[in-house]
Amino acid sequence: MIFYNGKIHTQDEQLPVTEALLILNNKIVQVGSNTAIQALATPDMTIIDLKGRVVLPAFTDSHIHFYEWALNYDGIDLSTAFSFKEMEEAVADKVTNLGKGEWILGNGFNESDWPENKMPDRYDLDRIAPNNPVCIWRCDLHLGVANSLALKFAGIGSKTPDPPDGKIEREADGKPTGVLRELALNLIKDAVPSLSEKIIFSNMVKAMTELHSLGITSIQDVRLMGGLDGADSLQSFQKLNEQDRLNIRCHVSLPGEMTDEAINIGLRTGYGDDRLKIGHLKFFADGGMGARTAWMLEKYVDAEYGMPLTSVKDIESAVSKADGAGLSVMVHSIGDRANREIVSMFERIEETNPERPHIPHRIEHVQMIRPEDLEKMGQLQSITTSCQPNNLSLDISMIEMAVGDKSQYTYTLKSILNNKLPLILSSDAPVCDPNPFMGIFSAVTRKRMNNTPEKGWHMEQALTVEEAVAGYTIAPAIASGVKNVLGSITPGKFADIIVLDKDIFSIDPEQIKNIKIDITVFDGQIVYEKS
Ligand SMILES: [Zn+2]
Repeated sequence: MIFYNGKIHTQDEQLPVTEALLILNNKIVQVGSNTAIQALATPDMTIIDLKGRVVLPAFTDSHIHFYEWALNYDGIDLSTAFSFKEMEEAVADKVTNLGKGEWILGNGFNESDWPENKMPDRYDLDRIAPNNPVCIWRCDLHLGVANSLALKFAGIGSKTPDPPDGKIEREADGKPTGVLRELALNLIKDAVPSLSEKIIFSNMVKAMTELHSLGITSIQDVRLMGGLDGADSLQSFQKLNEQDRLNIRCHVSLPGEMTDEAINIGLRTGYGDDRLKIGHLKFFADGGMGARTAWMLEKYVDAEYGMPLTSVKDIESAVSKADGAGLSVMVHSIGDRANREIVSMFERIEETNPERPHIPHRIEHVQMIRPEDLEKMGQLQSITTSCQPNNLSLDISMIEMAVGDKSQYTYTLKSILNNKLPLILSSDAPVCDPNPFMGIFSAVTRKRMNNTPEKGWHMEQALTVEEAVAGYTIAPAIASGVKNVLGSITPGKFADIIVLDKDIFSIDPEQIKNIKIDITVFDGQIVYEKS
């Protein structure tokens, strides 16, 4: 296959921009000028005239809850409910399509951006769906709201104690309000009937197809708190791979709770084949700012300090063991207190074990961090920062309500780069829309999807388009130990490339979120073409 007459931004310093490339089988074998590459054409080749369009290495989403996203692929998408009323309408709509007693699950509501700014409770959902169990998850996945029937099926009543690391919100008399935080949500998950393997696999294939249409061909599938889905997700990815249906390159993360098991059987991060590899062990230092469970140095404007989810001492002992065994870790850390503690933890680990892992450890989100801690983090030998710019545009109002004038310490993407830290970008879907162009738009303009605030939000932390694109291409390849085969358009690497319908480097930044993919090539095959 030959692509010519394009603006090929290779992400390779040897030849940053070129016109044409040649793919044989699943590899890029040559890049260069139109004349040089066209001279290599043979009659059996597919020849594609790019007509001046931009080509990039295909995107990596470095933090996506792909498995959970696929499981809920048929659930209600509440990220497009822009008011309390629209949320109610979306749930009501589902009720009319389902039989009595069938579960209704929804994802992605963001009450802090609704004009009503009101958290739903069980009674609101009971009014709309009296005969169906309902549970809807907030966009950050740290909080959900269940109706009375769902609470009943999950066995959650006035006398149910809060589970460890979870909270059941209650009325004065102890009766649950329907609002569940952190691991209390697993009581609901346990009560929802499981899907058949056939549905799970067909949903995973649908989800992969959607990612191809967004230019994504590599992912890091990340575990949620509690690690309940660890074995199921890894099994499902392996079975799809055996059936040649895994059309994506995937690092599957493991639950931190399984550190000892992983060490005892000798697993190492990066083990696997070209499509499926063992990823990082996932730990949680704290919760989320929207649920006020992120762990803060100073009190929230409207709440206490949040909380550590797993104690730093427990994380540290697991990470020390994993570090010595070739297992890299990713630690979810949002609040400025959590980030201070986790940076100090990695300092101690690097001191006690000077041998660095072959694939760097990661801190996930780094959503609020003080400059002095970021500076310390920049001194670490082997840390990647993993940030979610799509979240930024969702979080502006919530963060101002939660931390007021300390919002300058949140989403400090430019300071991360200024401290010479590797920065990888991702969607955290289903927390946010998986579209990388929305992420690049957010990182560059620091605006909501409706282009507010007009001048952007803390613009001193804005990235350039080039920096944001690197966060979805070459940076993740380096961070996950696959830079010899992925991340840039370089001869010898896998032919995972995308063709954009507009020039991302010259377009008005507000328009970046509207860019569409024309063609996605994965492993040398066209897997998506805009009709
Ligand atoms: Zn996540």
